[in-house]
Amino acid sequence: MTRGVASLNLELVGVAGSRAALETPALLLDATAFERNVATLAALAKEAGTALRPHAKTHKCATIARAQLAAGAIGIACAKSGELLALFEAGVTPLMLTAPVASQRKIERLAQAAARGCDLTVVVDRIGLVADFGAAARAAQTTIAVLVDCDTGLGRTGATTPDAVVALARATAAEDGLSYAGVQAYAGHVQHVHDNDTRRLANRIANERLSAILAALADAGLAARIVSGGGTGSHTLDFEDKVLTEVQAGSYIFMDEGYRPVDLHGENGPVFDFAMYVAVTVIAHNSMGEAITDAGSKSFAIDGPQPRAYLDGREIGTIAWVGDEFGKLVPHEGIAVPPVGTRIECTVPHCDPTANLHDVIHLVRGDRLEALWPIEGRGLSD
Ligand code: PLP
Ligand code: MN
Repeated sequence: MTRGVASLNLELVGVAGSRAALETPALLLDATAFERNVATLAALAKEAGTALRPHAKTHKCATIARAQLAAGAIGIACAKSGELLALFEAGVTPLMLTAPVASQRKIERLAQAAARGCDLTVVVDRIGLVADFGAAARAAQTTIAVLVDCDTGLGRTGATTPDAVVALARATAAEDGLSYAGVQAYAGHVQHVHDNDTRRLANRIANERLSAILAALADAGLAARIVSGGGTGSHTLDFEDKVLTEVQAGSYIFMDEGYRPVDLHGENGPVFDFAMYVAVTVIAHNSMGEAITDAGSKSFAIDGPQPRAYLDGREIGTIAWVGDEFGKLVPHEGIAVPPVGTRIECTVPHCDPTANLHDVIHLVRGDRLEALWPIEGRGLSD
């Protein structure tokens, strides 16, 4: 919390004009846009009658998880056990681990967290994992809720056939220490399809596969109470299809260049605002007269389209990479090269891995730095 730019910027909290004076590279969160994004999805979910379990892989930050819970989320999803345990230690619960694990010690740690009051749900995609979670839950004298992980087209984790899902559900229901709660099916391959109709079709195919699984479970007397899945790209489609009982959207709070071309709500619908920026500083002009900035792939995850650069709220160009610690401003037509010392705010190519590169979020509102929020799960990909 008090290392690096955070230690330099801490003294600027609450000072008018401090946003422009921030030491860089600094991860910024525009409070107004963030609050609007949280409220927008909460309202859409409420209207649809679908629950929200926002994914913390995007932020790994307890303060943000608490804001999502305060807005009505029923719990928080996590990708990895390290991220989940960090949020639990920071006081966040209920927590759901949305990927299977293959380590006895991780399973035991999760069970111990459940025994210490973490309202925990995990997923299983193989019979051996059912037995391992059951044994760990009994040893810790606790109960763990379990969803059967289903693969409806992503090709990552999860059982693929209705028979395999029913067998896992039956084993879970029979295992002491576990409580069978339903299924998870994350259609990750659908989320970034740009065109709304193409995305709707792809999501419908995934949801049809899921419906066949749900029917087989119901026939076997193992009807799913929880059907979890979905993301920022598919949330409106999942609200329409009503196959999922809850949506795990993550990126909607920040937005990134990867999601910018995705028509999430159609022309006249609500939209999410860009809330995440990395503040950078022009530290040199190179031999060609170009502006070199102080942030490269150690400050931005670069697996997405180039950032757009803003100066005093006006878009002035894009950023090209010139190494892991440096960027280069590519100014838009007619924009002058800014002088050394100029602070620029940049959108991010991909929000989730960008948050993971920073110790703290600098919460800005207007021209002020309002707070520093620690990113408790940063670096915890275990
Ligand atoms: N659920 C799972 C299982 C995920 O892996 C992800 C992201 O990769 C999400 C939800 C959230 O997706 P998004 O950030 O696109 O909203
Ligand atoms: Mn992502």
